[in-house]
Amino acid sequence: MIIVADDSPEDWSAPGVYRVAPGVYRIPMPLPEASRLLAVNVYALVEDTGIVLVDSGWAMQGARDRLAASLAVLGAGIGDVRRFLVTHQHRDHYTLAVEVRREFRTPISVGIGEKDGLELAMVAGRLHLAAQAAGLRRHGAGELADTVLAGQAGVDTSRFWELPDAWLRPPEHIAVAGRTLQALPTPGHTRAHVVFVDGDAQLLFAGDPCAAAHHTVDRVRARCVRPPPARLPRFAPARARAARRPAVAGARARARTRTSAH
Ligand SMILES: [Zn+2]
Repeated sequence: MIIVADDSPEDWSAPGVYRVAPGVYRIPMPLPEASRLLAVNVYALVEDTGIVLVDSGWAMQGARDRLAASLAVLGAGIGDVRRFLVTHQHRDHYTLAVEVRREFRTPISVGIGEKDGLELAMVAGRLHLAAQAAGLRRHGAGELADTVLAGQAGVDTSRFWELPDAWLRPPEHIAVAGRTLQALPTPGHTRAHVVFVDGDAQLLFAGDPCAAAHHTVDRVRARCVRPPPARLPRFAPARARAARRPAVAGARARARTRTSAH
């Protein structure tokens, strides 16, 4: 694995370390095949004293090794990760951070509004997506509920979640790797989804700003976030489309991705 420029949208999900900007690298992380999604991007911000990761990846077989191999290209190990800044609580963004913390005590931060959802996810014996499926059935979407639950029956995922070390209370500023990130609230995808904006470097770490761009875009040029923060939730989806990375072959495949994973 070597560092390459982040200019190949066709291969955006291929394992590697992609240079986004000075000191900023994109690391595509694996997702379960059943998710029908190609990858989720983790961003490494390199500083003298270690590495800060924006999002972590899904705690699954092979993910930790992928992260370790990618960080090795940057001359670091998983133990050099100084902090996780997580955009939202979903499994593909949050749970590998929990796994890493169990070994290295790496602190995790996520938006304060995710507290209820995280506490629910941590309830032992709670079946993954059961509540969402029940809601779908209540509203007459039984077939979709069956699709959502396919392969999930009887799976207790509570062990993958724990509470973070610190709650983000956006808008707030965070000093990272010689830069200042502003955490801005972008509720919608989850109750307390946040994005991280580096205004100086013109970078926006957008997480999952909208279903249409799901996992296809995590970075857009930050000319798009000049409007007041309060307007960002309305602003982000359009900008995310503008920077979309092709993730799947056609519109039908894209539509399928919207019903999966979350
Ligand atoms: Zn998500």
